[in-house]
Amino acid sequence: MTGKRVIALCGGIGGAKLARGLYELLGLDLTVIVNTGDDFEHLGLMISPDVDTVLYTLADLNDPERGWGRAGETWNFMASLAQVGGETWFQLGDRDLALHVERTRRLQEGQSLTRIVHDVARRFGISAEVLPMSDDPVRTIVATDAGPLPFQRYFVRSRCVPVVRAITFEGADAARASPELRAAFKQPGLAAIVICPSNPYLSVDPILAVPEMRELLQETEAPVVAVSPIIGGAAVKGPTTKIMAELNIQATNASIARHYMEIIDGLVIDSGDGSEAASLPVASLTTATLMNSLDDRVTLARDVLDFARELASSPQRVRPRYSAG
Ligand code: GDP
Repeated sequence: MTGKRVIALCGGIGGAKLARGLYELLGLDLTVIVNTGDDFEHLGLMISPDVDTVLYTLADLNDPERGWGRAGETWNFMASLAQVGGETWFQLGDRDLALHVERTRRLQEGQSLTRIVHDVARRFGISAEVLPMSDDPVRTIVATDAGPLPFQRYFVRSRCVPVVRAITFEGADAARASPELRAAFKQPGLAAIVICPSNPYLSVDPILAVPEMRELLQETEAPVVAVSPIIGGAAVKGPTTKIMAELNIQATNASIARHYMEIIDGLVIDSGDGSEAASLPVASLTTATLMNSLDDRVTLARDVLDFARELASSPQRVRPRYSAG
């Protein structure tokens, strides 16, 4: 690799785990681009769930049991909201609330989400750059057998029970990449781009739906490596394989590889899935991908970066994304 800067594309809980491992190794040489398709307005507040999960996780402020929100959280606001008959299906902890209130105030003043996230990251002591995928609104809409549902209505309120027919990203076509995001791709010394093991359909696809994002990924010289979010044919957590079944996609690593085919150079799959390696349409690395501890995250991050380095120096590197353009 010519440089050591790394860009990671990330959704929420699953993606943030690997981002935390990468951060341990790279510090300020890491840029994390985060899904904002889950963002929504609720109780008059602008909420960015995946961005906040990444911020809390990189700053070690996250609740490791729940996965989302802050450690040591209290719930007085929710209890009081229920008492006065307010909407309580989306949980907002007392500590977490402060970030939503401050973000909303600053957005209403006309500041960009990128700027706000940058400032909060610095206040949390995070040296990596955390960038929303766009400052323009993109909203994930899940078409289900119960009708079209905005993302949080599907994910939180309906607990992913409705059968998914299609997923669309409202506003994505018109959404621009921020100058900070374009600069992250253009600065010299980009060694690798890592697609974290986030839900491909709900967390990574909205990022890829921003036209400039896709162009930047197709143009980059750096190897692009994805880590599969499925292990042994099942998701570690969440609805990834349920959605795959509903969209008639087999829950295999080959399906994940095909999904990312136009943009990746390699896929990282779990040791237990080694027998699937031969069926993959891209180069692969087989290693332990289940991340329970910080050690697991750092070890996987190191493996992923080594794999990217190998791909970058491989003379037979197949880059299907170049043939498209
Ligand atoms: P969400 O937005 O909070 O649902 O989080 P993401 O989309 O970032 O992550 C959800 C995905 O992460 C699921 O498909 C999980 O299978 C995957 N995931 C969670 N933990 C792990 C892990 O330790 N290893 C791997 N390989 N995948 C994981």
